[in-house]
Amino acid sequence: MKLQFSRKDAAAALRELKRSGARKVLLSAASSLLAGPEGLAVLREAADFCIERGSALSIAGLAPCFLPGYARYLLAAGAGALPCAHSARCFLAGACTGIPRRHAAVAGLFKPPPRGFTDLEQCMLAILARKSGISTAQVLKAAKGIKICASCSNEGEVFRAAERLIKFGLVSKEYKGGVYLWSKKRD
Ligand code: SF4
Repeated sequence: MKLQFSRKDAAAALRELKRSGARKVLLSAASSLLAGPEGLAVLREAADFCIERGSALSIAGLAPCFLPGYARYLLAAGAGALPCAHSARCFLAGACTGIPRRHAAVAGLFKPPPRGFTDLEQCMLAILARKSGISTAQVLKAAKGIKICASCSNEGEVFRAAERLIKFGLVSKEYKGGVYLWSKKRD
């Protein structure tokens, strides 16, 4: 069963889905659905309904920024997909295949959603707020005095957290004297 979700018809599409006994469902998002949270909430309800009922679910015409947590159900953006201007700094970009061509007129709506920081990232930011331009070894030493993060115990964890923060434009690194020096960028 294929159901098109537009802003105007989303509620009717959800009712139709609930009436049906379809075991294989394709939900498709029209551009008008992207204009506000109400239509997307209905689409999310439809997706949850399919997941709970055990239907094979696919969702067409969306990028992960509109449905974080549902990336595994999203179909690829397909032929003519547009590149996203925010992909370099989007934490969902790894699961994103671009902006479906059908949404070219509203491509500006595709933006990374807010993302909370992990404990490791919060810890790194707290350490660098106290002192910038420090090595990985110094970060690990400083982490012992910070309660946010109990698990930061090796250089690999520091590197991974710091690289994510670099991607978000919050931290920078410089190779100097054989080691990387980490700094917090100005807010
Ligand atoms: S903001 Fe851009 S890169 Fe991120 S999920 Fe949306 S379309 Fe993809």
